[in-house]
Amino acid sequence: MALEIKVLDYGDIELESSFLVLGRDCGRTRRVPTLGFLILGGAYPILVDTGYRSNQIMETLGMRGLQFHENMIENQLSKHGVRMGDVRFVLHTHLHIDHAGKDDLFPMNSTVVVNRRELEYSVSGLMHPQYPAPDIKHLIDRLHGKGALRFLDLEISGPVELMPGVYCEAAGAHTEGSMNVHVHTSEGVATICGDVIYDINDQIVEPFRQNNDGEPQTTGNHGTTKRAEKAAIKKVLANARFILPVHDRPARVESGVVVARLQDSVPGPIVQTLPKRNWFPA
Ligand SMILES: [Zn+2]
Repeated sequence: MALEIKVLDYGDIELESSFLVLGRDCGRTRRVPTLGFLILGGAYPILVDTGYRSNQIMETLGMRGLQFHENMIENQLSKHGVRMGDVRFVLHTHLHIDHAGKDDLFPMNSTVVVNRRELEYSVSGLMHPQYPAPDIKHLIDRLHGKGALRFLDLEISGPVELMPGVYCEAAGAHTEGSMNVHVHTSEGVATICGDVIYDINDQIVEPFRQNNDGEPQTTGNHGTTKRAEKAAIKKVLANARFILPVHDRPARVESGVVVARLQDSVPGPIVQTLPKRNWFPA
């Protein structure tokens, strides 16, 4: 059976626009989704990212959480006939506040999978308020529970196949330990890229204030260098048929160019086709 990815909606957040795209609309507020991804079609369901703990916790970053009843993780999973206890692996693109907030709701035999570097980075103090205490302390509980946590060492091992057709790879951007999850679908590789990309249009399709051909704009929230951030975005585009960020809807990519947008599943229906690329600069 072919693997497919269902997009889960954990609720929107409101935050400052230049946090998402460097230099964009400083001081203005943007509302973006916070998504998760349920990989179905394998031996067991795999979940990538779990959203934020509560609306209140987003206020510690000066952001507004808009999580409602239907956004609760158990309700998002049950739309696809999956219960919390059915999930074999809970993967994290990284451990920021809006990506790892519900792990304590999963039984200890649903293994949480993180890149070791990311857990180290989460306690380094380098992006401190984005790694809230309750989420990280729960992961320490898992560290002491048999089989409750799996570490990857992606910088050293290279990509790891977790289940047939599902690969984890160091992302090299956003945070020091971020990872991408590649899913081999019937229509090609779909890359869940966490926050390596926040805004597909303003960073890639029409990159904000970029003058050079094919040059992406970085996010305003990153823990590596500008060069690394840009290269990581280019790497995702060069190797994926679909890209799935956590705060924007998925896109279809052909020869490194975004050609269409999707909504709720990958592969799935196209909801917007982008204009054909003009091969000469406009
Ligand atoms: Zn995020």
